[in-house]
Amino acid sequence: MARDTAPQCKQCRRESEKLFLKGERCLSDKCAVERRSYPPGEHGRGRIKQSEYLLQLREKQKARRYYQVLEKQFHQYYVEASRRQGITGENLLRLLETRLDNVVYRLGFGASRRQARQLVRHAHFLVNGRKVDIPSYQVRPDDVISVKPSSKAVETVRAATDLTSAVAPWLLADHDNLTGKILRLPERDDIDTPVQEQLIIELYSK
Ligand code: SF4
Repeated sequence: MARDTAPQCKQCRRESEKLFLKGERCLSDKCAVERRSYPPGEHGRGRIKQSEYLLQLREKQKARRYYQVLEKQFHQYYVEASRRQGITGENLLRLLETRLDNVVYRLGFGASRRQARQLVRHAHFLVNGRKVDIPSYQVRPDDVISVKPSSKAVETVRAATDLTSAVAPWLLADHDNLTGKILRLPERDDIDTPVQEQLIIELYSK
């Protein structure tokens, strides 16, 4: 399965925003955005001429990197979001939020989205008691996520829960028993992703 292999801290510095791609390191003073708060590369500290297109492009790239989704798949989410009823931007964020790898991360069972994705891909999680190893799997209300009883990743998952201070309000996590439940689909106010989704919609609508 393809994934974005660009250095993670560079991705954050490119967007001038902490995207929390590296787990514990992101919470420490080793975070590259805090140490070098300018874009990477030779011209990183130079002045960049802003344009409407550039703003829209950066917002799309930021969302894509935040959820660690490649361009083609991200565009497919946009197509699906515009097909659904309601506000396209909110639909887009909801589709991204309800990916299984993101839900595992939001429940606190992965220190980062990338770790959560790897744990899912290596089949350490069950959805409603059945093995699901597809990171993009869309969860639904009342789904129950649990760590496979025979999983060798239990200690890794427990270590990740120690880093988690709060769980999104649309989810219910039981860190003692390493299970979680989808209470409902997330509303826009539940999603703290630092993006202006309208700019992404404007970009794709051109
Ligand atoms: Fe981004 Fe985390 Fe690296 Fe900071 S430490 S730049 S938040 S990936």
